[in-house]
Amino acid sequence: MRIAEIFDSLQGEGPAMGRPATFVRLAGCNLRCEGCDTELGQWQELTPLSVEEKVIGNRVIITGGEPTLQMAELSDLIMLLHRAGKEIHIETNGTNLISEDVLKMVHCAVVSPKRGSDFHPAYWSVKGNVHFKFVIGKAPWCWRSQQLEKHVCALPKERVWIMAFGTDPDLPEAQEAWSLALRLGVNYSDRLHIRLRRE
Ligand code: SF4
Repeated sequence: MRIAEIFDSLQGEGPAMGRPATFVRLAGCNLRCEGCDTELGQWQELTPLSVEEKVIGNRVIITGGEPTLQMAELSDLIMLLHRAGKEIHIETNGTNLISEDVLKMVHCAVVSPKRGSDFHPAYWSVKGNVHFKFVIGKAPWCWRSQQLEKHVCALPKERVWIMAFGTDPDLPEAQEAWSLALRLGVNYSDRLHIRLRRE
């Protein structure tokens, strides 16, 4: 499978914010979000088994790019990690469905829909281990506050997170994300890895 990088860190955003994990970043994405800060062009080919062997701690976060583009290899990797007793998290843009058989081995899936894409809310929202993370901001793929209201009201609020876009450590749009989360009765996510990049 095509792996962009594997590294250990703390999760900076979303429901596992602040928790230590091994991050497995799969290469490639089916979307082209302007301002995407993920390096998508370079990877190495590894087997799912060799990836699983690099996960030392108890928690693993599979991210991308878009991990579901390599669905067969992704399923094999999740099975291996599950057998090894790891707490598995996955981050996806939600455009490709992960089968229920695979999803039930996952502790937490975070679907981060991009504005204008089909993220299959009816499928994901009934899965109790799926959270939604909406990013607000000025980039074309980011959500505007007004647009989110109609989406969020159809989703389980305890599993919805709102976060500001940006790589400025001051996160200038964090206040808007906070206010919107408060108004809608959903969760706010900060971006700790961006905040703490400050020198
Ligand atoms: S879905 Fe995520 S990884 Fe893919 S282009 Fe958009 S921001 Fe980048």
